[in-house]
Parts: sequence; C-alpha cells; structure tokens
Amino acid sequence: MTTPTLRLTPIETGWLRTDWGVLCKGRDGEARIPVAAWLIDHPQGRVLFDTGMHKDVQHDPSRMGAGAPYFKAEIPPGHDLGFLLRQEGVAPEHVDYVVVSHLHFDHCGGLAEVPDARLVVQRREWDAGKSSKLVDDGVFIPADYRLGHDVVELDGYHDLFGDGRVVCVPTPGHSPGHQSLRVELDSGPVLLTADCAYCGFMLDEDLMQTVVFDEAEFLASRRLLKKLRNEGCQLLFGHDPEQWESLRQAAGR
Ligand SMILES: [Zn+2]
Repeated sequence: MTTPTLRLTPIETGWLRTDWGVLCKGRDGEARIPVAAWLIDHPQGRVLFDTGMHKDVQHDPSRMGAGAPYFKAEIPPGHDLGFLLRQEGVAPEHVDYVVVSHLHFDHCGGLAEVPDARLVVQRREWDAGKSSKLVDDGVFIPADYRLGHDVVELDGYHDLFGDGRVVCVPTPGHSPGHQSLRVELDSGPVLLTADCAYCGFMLDEDLMQTVVFDEAEFLASRRLLKKLRNEGCQLLFGHDPEQWESLRQAAGR
C-alpha cells in the first residue's frame, strides 16, 4: 500500500443563514449554508483554499459589509480559523500558501489568522480590491485582506508546485477575478468551485446566481465546470449543505 502523497481536508469555518432567493433565482425558502475552507497538504507545502469569515461577524454584522442585511452568521464561540487549523494539527504559521477564490467576506475574512502565508490571488481580483465600485459599495471589505501579506498575483492558470497537483483555475464572473482550485488527489481530480457554483442543484438546474459581476463570464465559467465534471473531475461546491453533510460523514465527523 502506498502512502497518500496529498491530502485534502474540509474545514467548517461557520454557517450563513439566509433565503435561497438571496442566492439564486428560481428558489426560495430558508437556507443555511456552510462556509468552507480547505486544507491541502502537499509534500512541498501546506495550502489553504479560502479562509471563511472574520471572527467578529458573529457579534458585529457590519463586518459583512453589503452582505449584512441578507445574512446571519453562525460561528461557534472561539472557532476562529486559527483554532480550527490547530484542531487539524496545523499551526497557522505553518500554512505556506493561502489561495483565495475571491474577496467576498465569507472567503477572505479569516486571512488575519494566517499572516505569514503567501496570499495567492488573481490580479484582476486584487486590483478590484484596491479601488473599485465593489469597495465603495462594501462588497469588498479591505479590512479583510489589506493586511500586509506577501501577495502572489496571478494572470490565469497557475500550477502552484509545478507538478499539476494543485492548480489555480480562473473562473471569473461571480467576481472580477474569481478562481477555483483543482486538486489532483490520489483518488482522482477534484475542483473546489468556490462561488462559481454555490450548490450542485444550481449548476444542474442552470439556476442563475444573484451575485454576478459579469454574466457572460459567469456562464462561461459554469460551462467550464460542467466540462470538467464530464471529464471525470469531482466538483466540490462553495456552499452546498447537502454535499457538505456527505463530506462530514465521509470524514467520520
Ligand atoms: Zn462570493
């Protein structure tokens, strides 16, 4: 038996309560969606994909910026990202790279917990995060990400370790420079979609998500997800409560 050389661990950073209608067209009713981070142990380094929400959102909804009127955040007391990493046996200072899909509050809010990691982001997203209508409107909250990280700005696909096992895949549209992460596990490839597809049913039923920066790019990115899935890549969605539950069960949690 060979030892797995790469490990992917889902980390439950919190939950958001809202209405399905806030998330997509054609669906309503109460929604409670997971907010995920993903830990990837590669022989050459430790990677975190997304970081969840800032720990203060529970007490201070204004930390959600423009999202505040629409979401109620749930983070168990003390369960900040640093704590959750230590629970997995990882000291936050031992995270080498933090790849962020995009700069919305529920994906980059935990960056403060991993100050020593190199921040890997698409240049289009990072540029929009410096100054744009998204910042002015509170959709991007610079306090979440302008923290002095060593930043690696990408212009498209990027193979993090040069061996094809952890690859940034641009999936713009939900935000200007949104990216997903393809991870080549020993069992086969998976794509961490982040908000290119919140949930499997939205992709399957072609339900348009409501937060879309560029519709044409969003639809093209969704076509890419379907193509990858047809080629045998498993999609792990950004906020899918059903899939999250099955991942928890598979992990014996
Ligand atoms: Zn988002």
